[in-house]
Amino acid sequence: MNNRLLIIEDNEQNMYLMRFLLEKSGFTVIGAENGKKGIEMALQCKPLAILLDIQLPEMNGYEVAAELKKHRDLDEAPIIAVTSYAMVGDREQILAAGATGYIEKPINPETFVAEIIEYLPIKQGADHAA
Ligand code: MN
Repeated sequence: MNNRLLIIEDNEQNMYLMRFLLEKSGFTVIGAENGKKGIEMALQCKPLAILLDIQLPEMNGYEVAAELKKHRDLDEAPIIAVTSYAMVGDREQILAAGATGYIEKPINPETFVAEIIEYLPIKQGADHAA
């Protein structure tokens, strides 16, 4: 059963926290610290969903989301933006770029995993949740 989640995030502390929470709930986490690596990993690993930071070096999250959307074999993996970059219009912009959903930082450890599971295409992810 595919329980792989890809996290594209350049901040080590955020990566650590998200990885910790998701692995504790039974997910396998693949991490990439920039968009280019993230796109490569997505194509290689076929994750169940992609968690995407917006403020990334080189390619930003909007560009990464748009690039991911060009690949039809990734169609079933929702892109979930995870970002504190929440100015007016940002939510609309990332959804327009192809994201399915949006979670605001700071990450709330109490609700984070449940929020991610809500966005998964099939509820099998819930089987892994604590
Ligand atoms: Mn960032």
